[in-house]
Amino acid sequence: MTTVYIGLGSNLNNPSYQIKKALRTLAIIPTICLHNHSSLYRSKAIGPKNQPDYINAIAILSVKLSPFQLLKKLQTIETEHGRTRTGKRWQARTLDLDILMYDNKQLQSPNLILPHPELYNRMFVLQPLYECVPDLILPNGQPLQDLIQYHSDEKIWKI
Ligand code: AMP
Repeated sequence: MTTVYIGLGSNLNNPSYQIKKALRTLAIIPTICLHNHSSLYRSKAIGPKNQPDYINAIAILSVKLSPFQLLKKLQTIETEHGRTRTGKRWQARTLDLDILMYDNKQLQSPNLILPHPELYNRMFVLQPLYECVPDLILPNGQPLQDLIQYHSDEKIWKI
């Protein structure tokens, strides 16, 4: 079994409901064991400002899936939540599921990068991670706590 951290985000069609429903779905997939998840957090959208606030959370899983099998599974769940892909960055979305870390695996492929390239940059990922694993050391060797302090001016609200 491999330990995986995933990020969940939504800013359309009742975002809190979308996140809770996705967590329920993850909990019943036979090849996935959902160990823990954070509270839900609200933050302002990055990119175009004329879109609703985001609700985010992280989840900690054990999986019996390769990184690509897991990505496919997560994209199926996104589609089931009505996610449509226009290819544009920062678009509003019913559900976004990202693989933040897959053990400490490093991978660069056209459709999967591990750890997730935004892992170190987004408070809406770092703060929920900190809630669940305050002593986490990130794949680049940096303590999560140090990064939280670095990004402390980014506003995020626990709900
Ligand atoms: P997004 O708009 O955030 O949903 O990202 C879309 C694309 O990112 C997907 O088509 C994935 O193939 C790609 N991607 C690359 N690395 C990752 C990752 N670690 N987790 C999820 N998606 C990823």
